[in-house]
This record gives sequence, structure tokens and C-alpha cells, in this order.
Amino acid sequence: MQPLTDSWQQHLSHAISDPSELLQTLALPDNLLPAAQRAAAQFALRVPHPFVAKMKKGDLNDPLLKQVLPLDSELDQVPGFTTDPLAEMQSNPHDGLIHKYRGRVLLITTGACAINCRYCFRRHFPYQENRLGPQQWQAILDYIAADDSISEVLFSGGDPLATPDRRLKTMLEGLAAIPHLRRVRFHTRLPVVIPQRVTDSLIAALTQTRLRAVIVLHANHPNEIDSQLADALRPLQQAGVQVLNQAVLLRDINDDVATLKALSEKLFDLAGVLPYYLFVLDPVAGSAHFDISDTEAQTLVSALQQELPGYLLPRLAREIPGKPSKTLLTLD
Ligand SMILES: *Cc1c(COP(=O)(O)O)cnc(C)c1O
Ligand code: SF4
Repeated sequence: MQPLTDSWQQHLSHAISDPSELLQTLALPDNLLPAAQRAAAQFALRVPHPFVAKMKKGDLNDPLLKQVLPLDSELDQVPGFTTDPLAEMQSNPHDGLIHKYRGRVLLITTGACAINCRYCFRRHFPYQENRLGPQQWQAILDYIAADDSISEVLFSGGDPLATPDRRLKTMLEGLAAIPHLRRVRFHTRLPVVIPQRVTDSLIAALTQTRLRAVIVLHANHPNEIDSQLADALRPLQQAGVQVLNQAVLLRDINDDVATLKALSEKLFDLAGVLPYYLFVLDPVAGSAHFDISDTEAQTLVSALQQELPGYLLPRLAREIPGKPSKTLLTLD
């Protein structure tokens, strides 16, 4: 096990990628190995040590383990579950840029992620063709500068915080020079899986320009939220960065009212983070075993609504290709 005090770069490069190492670390039975290896050959296993440290040893039903352990069911072909469920490859005006929604553009900052979530809707995305080199970056700046309807730039990925702070600083300076931009937003799971990622230089990079910064974390289960995460986020929030969370509704992981309620409450009470979206799964090939029907999701969140103050209720939503925004699912 890596010492948990290592730098985020060390945690990134020492993340567990060998299924047998994960099983051994968690004292899980060897007979899971062949299936894990088969599924990992399609989409690699990847999980950093600080996230593994939040799992319970010997528990195959651990809700964090289930998000990362490769399983045979990923190899099932299920009708309706495809490799590009969001048809993102069709709205790529430039490599690394997706412009689907009015006023907002999304940057595929890097293909790298700190963790590979088995349900990920980008598990089949052609990242190699969507990496931001210096030429693509200039083309993207020109594209944004030429369209004054754009007010917000979303850094996505992959995980945009896998990018070094120096590079983020340069990118933010470039964006701040475009007068019609007002906000930057980072969609990242990195602080949840490696809290050491929230460095002083990251906070400086995010707060040194006139652009208002928003971070949307991705945590699905209350066990992902602890005081180490809260401590890491505090200086960021004190510097004026708004921190939100989005989650994905996942079968047998967070598909009950008590768990979702605990997630919202722990995010806010412990870490001052507000829930933003709760997404139903995108139908990506290999993830059908995580799926919850829209009706089940609507029933669940309607019940959740009775348990929580309005500001702790996430918006239940789905992404439908070709729509000009996320689609909110109605509640009873
Ligand atoms: C989700 C998404 C956004 C942001 O949507 P919000 O509702 O503003 O959070 C922007 N662009 C793309 C391509 C998206 O998928
Ligand atoms: S961190 Fe986000 S982009 Fe990366 S694998 Fe998980 S869900 Fe996908």
C-alpha cells in the first residue's frame, strides 16, 4: 500500500491497475480473477490507493468496490447499450471541443482519469484523437473568441484535474482574455479519489483570473465523503470556488432512499458541497448491469424529495443525444 501522504502525482502513477493486486489488497477471493482480467482487457482496471482505503476489506458488496471491479457481465451484449450513447462524436467542431449546449462549450482536457469507473459513458470514447495539444488549444481559443454567445467553458475529460497546475494556469489565462467568458467549470472526480489533488497551486490557478470557478465533483455514495475530502476542499471554498456534486444512479450501489439521503447530507454537512445532478445511466455497452429504469428512478427521487430540504435534492436527469440541454425527469 502506498503511504496516503504521497503527492497526487505519485498516487496517480501508483494507482492499482492489476486485478490480482486489488483482490489481494482487499482480501478478496482469487476465483474472481479470471473474470476481472477478461473485463479489464476491454476497459482497464484503475483505482488509486486513497479510494481503495475507503473500502471495507473482504466485502464483495462494498459500494465503492462495485464501481471499479471489472466483471464478466460487462462483456454481455445488451440491446440499446452502445459504444457512443451520447453521439458526442457528431458534435466535435474541433478535436477536444464539444459544443452541444447554448452558451457552454465542453473541453476534453485530457483522456486520462485517476480512476476507471465501470459504468463510465466515455469508456469507448476515442481519446487518442481528442487530446489538447498546443495547436488544438489555439484553434479552440479562436473558436470561443469568435462566438460571443459562449459564457462558460467546462473542463471535462477524462479528468481535467489530471492536467498539471502550470498548464491549467496557462489555459485559464488564455480564456480570461476572452471578454465574453464569465465562468469556468471543472467536472472532476479527482479530489474524491485523491484528495491530495487540491494543491495550493491549483487553488491559485482557479482563483487568479476574473473568471468565476465552479467545481462539480463526482461522488456516488456517502462512503466516498470523509473528513480528508472536506479538509482538502475547505481552502478551495474559502478562496471562492463553488463546489457541487453530481452522481450517477447505480443498481445495488446507491439505488435506495437512505443512501441517497446520506449522500446529500454528508456532502453538505461535512464538506459544504451542494448536490447538482443525479444522472440515470447512459446506455453504454458494458454497463447494463448498473441500469435503473426511469420509473424506478423517479419513484426513488420522489421519495427522497420528502426527506430533504429542497437545496439538498439533486436534479434527476438524463442526457438525450440531440437535445439542447440535459433532460430533467419529472417527479410525482
Ligand atoms: C452536460 C453538458 C454540459 C453542461 O450542462 P449543464 O446543464 O450546464 O450542467 C455542457 N456541454 C455538454 C456537451 C454536456 O454534455
Ligand atoms: S472519473 Fe468520470 S470520466 Fe473518469 S472513468 Fe469515472 S466516470 Fe468516467
